[in-house]
Amino acid sequence: MEKPLANSTNTIKQKKDTKVNTKIVALSIAHYPNRAGASYKGVNEHAVSTVWISTLKRILESYGVIVIQTPVGGLRKKVKFINDHDSDVAVEIHFNGSSNPKVSGTETLYCPGSVKGKKFAEIVHSNYVKEMHCRDRGIKEGWYRMDRPYIEDYPGDIDGDEKKDYFLQYTSCPALIPEPEFIAQQDNINDNMESACIGIALGIIEFLET
Ligand SMILES: [Zn+2]
Repeated sequence: MEKPLANSTNTIKQKKDTKVNTKIVALSIAHYPNRAGASYKGVNEHAVSTVWISTLKRILESYGVIVIQTPVGGLRKKVKFINDHDSDVAVEIHFNGSSNPKVSGTETLYCPGSVKGKKFAEIVHSNYVKEMHCRDRGIKEGWYRMDRPYIEDYPGDIDGDEKKDYFLQYTSCPALIPEPEFIAQQDNINDNMESACIGIALGIIEFLET
């Protein structure tokens, strides 16, 4: 198995004899082949997420973590799979979209109101954000379509119709949506994938060990 070394600024720690090799990490690819999420110049979120999830899986497995991957299908099916397998944590990697192709930055979403989810987000975000070499947009509560309560997020925003992100809300373990970059920043996405995935993996392990 290939060792995650690369030219990362992360220190590769030895992970022998830790409790991490009894934990189950569920990974999920964003969106669907036929509804692929954000896209830019023919490259879409689903395709990029597929490559990042397989990279993250390889790195986690090299540390001895048990990784399961959700089946292709609707969100309900993915979340049921995660819960049925008693996963300890769940991670789905997305890429942001913007009408302005110059917008760049890294953020990490967690379930609104979840104390453990917020802690998980803080640990993972701080382990990988520096590897992306772009603006740190921080950790954020994950609301469906980013429509937050008590805030007018767009003209005519009706208060009271906000919904938590389905993946974050209905997974019974702490769950995260890292958004490493905006989909238009394809050089940044490709150049930093390996070191950012090492950071995400180390953050997951750090959370599982605390
Ligand atoms: Zn998405």
